[in-house]
Amino acid sequence: MDVTFKELEAYLFHHYGQWGKEQGLFMKLVEEIGEVAEILNMRSGSKAANEADTQEQLANELADVIHYTVAIAAINGIDLGETIIRKDKKASIKYNHDVDLETFIAGKKAQTTG
Ligand SMILES: [Mg+2]
Repeated sequence: MDVTFKELEAYLFHHYGQWGKEQGLFMKLVEEIGEVAEILNMRSGSKAANEADTQEQLANELADVIHYTVAIAAINGIDLGETIIRKDKKASIKYNHDVDLETFIAGKKAQTTG
């Protein structure tokens, strides 16, 4: 099952919105980024952790980072999907990318429907 930013924001607003504790959510976000760092350090470290063993842990911690990032956006009424498209468009022009995100998505959709 796929989830969109809009769906995740609506869900997290339902979950956190009425309390609006962005400082607490930000502290959780930083904690989760630290957990990602630990796993990446483990994977590149001399103890050479099995990459397959840490793959699921990495996925879980990245999901936690997204959770708190989107939660902060949601309680502040930020449309993260729209913001990502808008920022990418600017970056695509600035850094001369061959395609921007919105065009890339439209192309993928045309491939699957056409
Ligand atoms: Mg975590």
